[in-house]
Amino acid sequence: MSKVVKIGKLNIGGGNKIAIQSMSTLKTADTVGAIEQCQKLERAGCDIFRFSVTDEKDAKAFSELKKHVSMPLVADIHFDYKLAIAAIDGGADKIRINPGNIGSEERVKAVADALKTNGVPVRVGSNTGSIEKEFLKKYGKNEISLGESALKNVAILEKYGVDNIVISVKASDVPLAVKAYEYIAKKTDYPLHLGVTEAGTEYNGVIKNSIGIGSLLLNGIGDTLRVSLSADPEREVVAARAILSAVNKLDDMVKIIACPTCGRCEWDCMGFAKKVEDYVKDVRKPLKIAVMGCAVNGPGEAADADVGIAGSKDCVVIFEKGKIVQKVTGEDVEKEFFRRIDECIR
Ligand code: SF4
Repeated sequence: MSKVVKIGKLNIGGGNKIAIQSMSTLKTADTVGAIEQCQKLERAGCDIFRFSVTDEKDAKAFSELKKHVSMPLVADIHFDYKLAIAAIDGGADKIRINPGNIGSEERVKAVADALKTNGVPVRVGSNTGSIEKEFLKKYGKNEISLGESALKNVAILEKYGVDNIVISVKASDVPLAVKAYEYIAKKTDYPLHLGVTEAGTEYNGVIKNSIGIGSLLLNGIGDTLRVSLSADPEREVVAARAILSAVNKLDDMVKIIACPTCGRCEWDCMGFAKKVEDYVKDVRKPLKIAVMGCAVNGPGEAADADVGIAGSKDCVVIFEKGKIVQKVTGEDVEKEFFRRIDECIR
């Protein structure tokens, strides 16, 4: 079991709920847009949101963002230790920085002191583009060099008394990312931030993330995750929720079962499934809904659904736990089915 790390009001690790993260596409100093994006992301189910800090203005913006946003905010800093300290002072709940990139021991110590004084955790890590030269030379580009690079950064912080750490070891290559997380999970009990980096555009990116993150979660590895996509951050959160739900790690999401349809399908099952998906997208309840192509096999195939619908010759049937409870035709279909869903949600 991993250690618990507190990020603002949220605990991750130690068997806590797996936190969903995403990252802003906006300039942090654009506080009006940033606040709007945070609120949208929070509604979509995001637990932790990260902003890049490229200058003093970005670092200072955290104090304004924190007035309007309740989810924990992370400051992402590349090299500048002063920006790291300014972001912590500004109220960032966590920072993302590699101490190996900060420079002198004094600078690392200054950041470590700011982290400890403010009780702010830090994520350190590696990706295939940032493997430490010594490990690259010794092991080549593999899970060992990725893991050891991350652990080296952990050791630098531990030297200065920081133990509030989250680790990532990201790769774009899915098998390598999985091996790297498996490697580091054996070496540390700090919480792990899962991700397949530079995964690509939405369709392919979701597939890569689902396989990588999904297989790790099924093996009990991972405490928080980001589904990196070349898409709007909201889509990352939607995908993260779907991945967590698919591996039964999310119990406040509606699961929709829909059949692939076949020659027995007697209505617009696919179109209706999309409507249902849209109708329940903001519902945070453990509910199973089935949308099936035919009344002959549908109710039986989806017998564990709380409520379901299936096509019949001249009508559709609504069923609950496999038993048909209502027959509906025409315009009433949508209204009646959504009414049944509402009853289940209540
Ligand atoms: S529920 Fe009916 S339409 Fe859907 S796949 Fe099964 S048999 Fe085909």
